[in-house]
Amino acid sequence: MSVPGSVVEFHEVSKTYPGGVAAVRDVNLRVHRGELVAIVGPSGSGKSSMLNLMGSLDRPSAGRVLVDGHDVAALTDREVSALRATRIGFVFQQFHLAVGVPVLDSVADGLLYAGVPLRRRRARAASALARVGLSHRVHHLPHQLSGGERQRVAVARAVVGGPAVLLADEPTGNLDSASGAAVLALLRELHAAGTTVVVITHDREIAAALPRRIEMRDGRVVADTATEPTTGAPA
Ligand code: ADP
Ligand code: MG
Repeated sequence: MSVPGSVVEFHEVSKTYPGGVAAVRDVNLRVHRGELVAIVGPSGSGKSSMLNLMGSLDRPSAGRVLVDGHDVAALTDREVSALRATRIGFVFQQFHLAVGVPVLDSVADGLLYAGVPLRRRRARAASALARVGLSHRVHHLPHQLSGGERQRVAVARAVVGGPAVLLADEPTGNLDSASGAAVLALLRELHAAGTTVVVITHDREIAAALPRRIEMRDGRVVADTATEPTTGAPA
């Protein structure tokens, strides 16, 4: 049922939270391998809810979500955890780095579930940190880093396992504009090197510079540049 080359598929997906808030309504979409997609929309429009569904952090109330070819509803909790740990990288507005854990180990921990021995985890962490320009900070603790550096560590941790998709929820939201621009440049570099990236932003300028924009309002996708004929994107 899954379309070859698609990393995320939503078929008539809705999410209604207990209490009745319909955060996502009847959404259909596909993210293809190698895409860089911006999700935009006002606060409360369902962007984070949609990203959480894409990342199998949450299950839909209706419809089907396929991640990396797997129907999330058909997997056991254990399988969903494994899918998330090995195929999906997350970056959040708050960097979520453990207090007191050196940068190298924070990133190496991204490979815990992959069953990689410690020495190889550290070696791969070091190369992920080199990719984000932080080779000179591997022994630092999070509190010794700037916000922009912390977010680059979080990006290194998210990509160290070579995920099928990198999901970023307002990754520049806590950063000054220069650090935010650096994090965005990093996401673009990763994309250029082949990583599939979905990024939520409410920075119009950032979004306008990205190749595809999905715009949400009241839980619905109200515009998607990939489905507009002017982009020339494959249907
Ligand atoms: P955005 O990321 O675009 O700001 P969200 O996806 O966070 O939007 O929220 C969409 C709607 O769902 C909002 O009305 C929000 O209050 C509601 N919502 C989000 N998470 C929960 C939750 N865990 N329980 C109940 N309502 C929620
Ligand atoms: Mg949000």
